[in-house]
Amino acid sequence: MEERDVMPVDVLFVGGGVACLSGALHLANLIKAHNEKIEKVGDGKKLDEIMIAVLEKGAYVGSHGISGAVMDPGPLKTLIPDFLEQGAPLEGEVTKEGVYLLTKNGKIKSPITPPPLNNHGNYVISLSRFTEWLGQKVEESGVDIFPGFAGTEVLYEGDKVIGVRTGDKGIGPDGEKKSNFEPGIDLQAKVTVFGEGSRGSLTKTLIDKFQLDQGKNPQSYVVGVKEVWEVPEGRMDSGEVIHTLGYPHSSRTYGGGFVYGMKDNRISLGLLTGLDYEDPFLDPHREFQKFKLHPLIADLIKDGKMVQYGAKTAPVGGYFSIPRLVMDGGILIGDSAALFISQKLKGIHAAMTSGINAAESIFEAFLKDDFSSSQLEGYQRSLLESPVGREIYKTRNFHQLFQKGLWSALFWGGIQYLLGGRIIRGRLAAAPDFSHLKTVKDHYGTDKPSEEQKGDIKFDGERTFDKETDVYYSGTTHEEQQPAHLKIEDLDICYTKCKEEYQNPCQRFCPANVYEMEVDEETGKQNMKLNFSNCVHCKTCDVKDPYEIIAWVPPRFKVPWFTPALARLDRHS
Ligand code: SF4
Repeated sequence: MEERDVMPVDVLFVGGGVACLSGALHLANLIKAHNEKIEKVGDGKKLDEIMIAVLEKGAYVGSHGISGAVMDPGPLKTLIPDFLEQGAPLEGEVTKEGVYLLTKNGKIKSPITPPPLNNHGNYVISLSRFTEWLGQKVEESGVDIFPGFAGTEVLYEGDKVIGVRTGDKGIGPDGEKKSNFEPGIDLQAKVTVFGEGSRGSLTKTLIDKFQLDQGKNPQSYVVGVKEVWEVPEGRMDSGEVIHTLGYPHSSRTYGGGFVYGMKDNRISLGLLTGLDYEDPFLDPHREFQKFKLHPLIADLIKDGKMVQYGAKTAPVGGYFSIPRLVMDGGILIGDSAALFISQKLKGIHAAMTSGINAAESIFEAFLKDDFSSSQLEGYQRSLLESPVGREIYKTRNFHQLFQKGLWSALFWGGIQYLLGGRIIRGRLAAAPDFSHLKTVKDHYGTDKPSEEQKGDIKFDGERTFDKETDVYYSGTTHEEQQPAHLKIEDLDICYTKCKEEYQNPCQRFCPANVYEMEVDEETGKQNMKLNFSNCVHCKTCDVKDPYEIIAWVPPRFKVPWFTPALARLDRHS
């Protein structure tokens, strides 16, 4: 048994994204205001020396965020009312927007901006810069942030969550301890708040252990593949927003494109692909490359330069896929709580709101010295009754409507939105994303579809890039001498059933070329090569693998990853 350091804190936020940072900051502010009030009136119980800590797996807060997002500033106004005066790094207020339906070479501009996509009053932000700034505000409020530490295991006392264990460091590729071995530490807390982002590895174990998803729809996800480009002056105003539907997706594939204008002639563009797609040869990265070749986008990036790449999943199952959010000593927030408004393509304000609501509930729990699930339940109630909760409820069946195709979703989704969700009140069923994938034979009617059928394109290295080139621009680096953080339960399935039925779709759905099936020419022996250091941590493989044998876990990095070079570019530009 390894001897480990134990570090007690009062409240532990697992994850350094906007949900946890908002929660930590709001809690620190509530405690400060409470103590000041008690001091002033000279009566009541002060909450002294409550230690709040945030664990961030990246090298610094903000290192995971990919540039370019639209943020509703509502929760930010609650947290930092004078955020403009305090220099919040905003790329521009949205004053100009367009929604287009794309065909392969044509476009139809919507005469009005559909209400769910109306972003007037919102801000385009670089998520990495914004998160880094918010992290500074959190530290200034007295919260301790521990960057470079990932929670790898939940700690329990009976059925009560009491913290997390961080990963051991200095483990070799075969699991052997190296000379620089350091056991992870046990961070114990009265309340542990999980805001690990989409498909969090600890959240998955909590959902299983406490059956938090009982009676709920299975979760659905999109993967967003995106790049940031520097373009010639005047191409797009900062704060300008474009959304697209249609090409390159077929009407059976959920998703759409976006382009956001940022400061200094940078634009952020990306394509969301619903992971409930059927085609085993669909490759979200390749579809994004095709998106850039559409004349609407090609004109925007002409003579420009790609400077950053990333990919990320987001939960889009909606209201009926939200798990129970509390347990004894534990709370789920942000993407870990599946709080994303897919009809609006927005999750940042929902994540921040969940952090704020969680903080209020935790504050009450400290006043009563009760951290049980029944006390923390107030969080789930207040969240679902908040404007964000009502928005999520109003659009509750949006993703399920898409399973009948784009046109049905636009028609019924629009009516539902306008009537506040009154037409289809109950829950429409959903199936897990991986179960939608068809075998090659079923989808194409042959085991050998042509390049054209599969939709392959050649990358030109100017506007379109292969995965290796894109990964280089993600700035991702992992120490090579560590165990792979993608766990494949049974490689035999890869070499037999998966190869025969789906022709190893991991090679296509991973946007970072992590999975490569090699065949030795002489022996004919197959080998699944895992280029794990390419991984951009999108979690697509954890969601889409048709046999559910791939699990993503946090790497045991010793060196900073998502490096610095690109993040610096983003931070100081
Ligand atoms: Fe995403 Fe999985 Fe590929 Fe990593 S290995 S980039 S998590 S699909």
